[in-house]
Amino acid sequence: MIQRTFPRGGGEIPHRKEATDQKPIVVLPAPAEVVIPLHQHIGAPCEILVQKGDRVKMGQKIGEAKQFVCAPIHSSVSGEVIAVEERPLLSGKKVLSVVIKNDGKDEPITAPAHKDFLKMSPDAIRQVVKEAGIVGMGGAGFPTHIKLNPPMPVDTIIINGAECEPYLTCDHRLMAEKAPEMVGGLLAIMRATGAAKGIVGIEANKPDAIAAVEEAIKGHEQLSVVVLQVRYPQGAEKQLIKAVVNKEVPSGCLPCETGCVVNNVHTAIAIYEALTLGKASFERVVTVSGGAVVDPRNVLVRIGTPLEALLEFCGGLLGEPAVIIGGGPMTGPAVVDLKGPVVKNLSGVLALRDDEVAFDENRPCIRCARCVQVCPMGLTPNLLGELSHKGFYEKAGKLRIQDCIECGLCSYTCPSKRALVTWIKDGKAGLAAQRAKEKVS
Ligand code: SF4
Ligand code: SF4
Repeated sequence: MIQRTFPRGGGEIPHRKEATDQKPIVVLPAPAEVVIPLHQHIGAPCEILVQKGDRVKMGQKIGEAKQFVCAPIHSSVSGEVIAVEERPLLSGKKVLSVVIKNDGKDEPITAPAHKDFLKMSPDAIRQVVKEAGIVGMGGAGFPTHIKLNPPMPVDTIIINGAECEPYLTCDHRLMAEKAPEMVGGLLAIMRATGAAKGIVGIEANKPDAIAAVEEAIKGHEQLSVVVLQVRYPQGAEKQLIKAVVNKEVPSGCLPCETGCVVNNVHTAIAIYEALTLGKASFERVVTVSGGAVVDPRNVLVRIGTPLEALLEFCGGLLGEPAVIIGGGPMTGPAVVDLKGPVVKNLSGVLALRDDEVAFDENRPCIRCARCVQVCPMGLTPNLLGELSHKGFYEKAGKLRIQDCIECGLCSYTCPSKRALVTWIKDGKAGLAAQRAKEKVS
């Protein structure tokens, strides 16, 4: 079987998916109380629609999107609003949240169902997606209705089934168990964007998912599956486009300028369910894994569930983990507050032991150039890290620091364990702030 990939940089890293990749998705019963942040996406926070004492239904809108880049928020249970106050996210950052006491009835409220969604207008599809509060569920959290309205014509929709980060298997399981729904979502995205072709890119280490999707696309001549080489960061948007359609996203350009729009597996399924069931985005599948988890699983969990309840459902922890990460180990941030809630773009929770983690030691650079060899964007991470660390942001800008996709491969590969990606992230933020300041003055 031909396996495609991107040509520059990249590397093989341990998958560590075996603890969960063959485990079917299990459902975590809704907790007694959910804490639903009003900001779970890229863009502006929602405006609150409820107050303390209100009764709400499961799927009811509790936060409205009043800004252009924003997505509404819905209740994941039925019950009573017992507080509207600032609560910590997993990162520890506090945001305005709605606290709802679950009445255990799951009394639903749904939007109209559109079984014949392929006859709907593109605008009508985008409106359903917007009202359902769907955002990129692979981690980006960008409001999907905006992505379905590209500023230029596109011809191809790519579903990102690479899931190249170690440990994560939620998209794998969703493709294996819900391929027809994902294909329905793909067709809806094609209808909304006017794209004629749909391609699902899947890494070769998911044969059951490949088989399920190939079965689901039978009879759809415009759809195909591309099997991808197992190589990190195969699932990064630019690397995926290059591998699947052999087009390069130029520096500073949008992916849609290549005629492609990329969507995540879970997002496509959420779109299908919003259209055919009238269901809002109030639950998601999360991979809970890592050597410090007693019973690693893929769990369907309500948005707003405290992380500690999710970990408890997976048997709890084996002693004190070295670190808990929200998302994948290469790009996900450390979890600071276990009482923080599951949000729409949380794909995984990893509790890792000491022997699974390599902490940054920041020994001196030995000029081995391994970071340069693996960088999939053709950058010089050693120099970018150094310049950022010293605050020379403009110089880092001249070396294209903004093109860094923050894949973390340079830090992972560095024999001196230098915190390259951390410094580069700081450098990108520093450069952006500096340029914004210059624009104002
Ligand atoms: S984190 Fe950035 S600089 Fe480092 S390898 Fe990835 S793209 Fe290159
Ligand atoms: S991999 Fe590390 S030690 Fe080697 S050149 Fe890059 S920063 Fe220096």
